[in-house]
Amino acid sequence: MSRYWSPALADLSPYVPGEQPRIAKLVKLNTNELPFGPSPRVLAALHDAIDERLRLYPDPESLHLRTVLAERHGLQPENVFVGNGSDEVLAHAFLAFFRQPQPLWFADITYSFYPVYCRLYGIQYRQIALDDELRFNVDAFLPAANEAASGGVLLANPNAPTGQLLPLAEIDRLARAHRQCVVLVDEAYIDFGGESAVALLNEHPNVLVVQTLSKSRGGAGLRVGWALGSAELIAGLNRVKNSFNSYPLDRLAQTAAAAALQDEAWFDEHRRIIMANREWLTEQLRQRGFTVLPSAANFIFARPPAGNAAEVAQQLRENAVLVRHFTHPERIAAWLRISIGTREECEALLGALPAHDGGDEA
Ligand SMILES: *Cc1c(COP(=O)(O)O)cnc(C)c1O
Repeated sequence: MSRYWSPALADLSPYVPGEQPRIAKLVKLNTNELPFGPSPRVLAALHDAIDERLRLYPDPESLHLRTVLAERHGLQPENVFVGNGSDEVLAHAFLAFFRQPQPLWFADITYSFYPVYCRLYGIQYRQIALDDELRFNVDAFLPAANEAASGGVLLANPNAPTGQLLPLAEIDRLARAHRQCVVLVDEAYIDFGGESAVALLNEHPNVLVVQTLSKSRGGAGLRVGWALGSAELIAGLNRVKNSFNSYPLDRLAQTAAAAALQDEAWFDEHRRIIMANREWLTEQLRQRGFTVLPSAANFIFARPPAGNAAEVAQQLRENAVLVRHFTHPERIAAWLRISIGTREECEALLGALPAHDGGDEA
């Protein structure tokens, strides 16, 4: 606390990102980056873009990148918004759509940045419990089940940190039940086996889909994310952006992101490797007594046989393997979120696990 801080600052509780330590030979399975990439085409495009043009401001509309995204999804550029990582796109969406008299609804176990934005922007929220198997239950998200109106609905699909996927038909049901507000689908992990809600955009002007270069494209260091939705929603995001920072994406990021999105062969090859490694690691952990939720993401949510997640994470750390352990909420304190790495990294994780005695001591 400082006497110079404005009062609102004291009430914030900022998001704590997974660590990015400077330890050599670390097996880093704690922040869901891809162990590959970016595509060689991205590196070539960056190389070509490094010249005296960096003296000039970038295109504030990122039109080339938005056109590439629009073409990829069968949309128009007016249906595409880009920002400095999907975290920034999400932040703008909170301000543009969720500052309402009614609370924003999201799950009790989901991306822990959501309550942080609510605090930042003074948005009321209601957290609705995932079911006993940590699945998103649309019935619990219906207005009738809550005897209340929603000022917005937000879900990560696949969810984080559970990795579980909600089928498209269920998102359709959710969007229909909440036509009066924006239903935001955060698809940071959709490319690892899910079906995108972009398919619903024609029918639902209230659905906003947010995606990122950070996970499936191996471009977390470039900080590029985007939203896809009706022109009226995109116009709302532009109003916030142009009241905040007109140039959220620098020249290099715009160029690199467009190149990444144009290399479908690289994208397909590497997400397939991750999906195969995920299935293999899931099986290996189950053989060692772990409970592993079915995942459609590039990470898995796994409970060690003794439920001693903090201890297991610490032991892995001593062996230079990092995974993510969340202490809140209590309901997930026995679980670990493990990013899917290369096969060698998955093997290193297994090798660093404490010996398993076959029984469930929990
Ligand atoms: C990683 C992640 C993001 C943020 O991605 P950036 O584009 O890197 O800001 C957003 N939502 C979820 C659920 C994530 O896991």
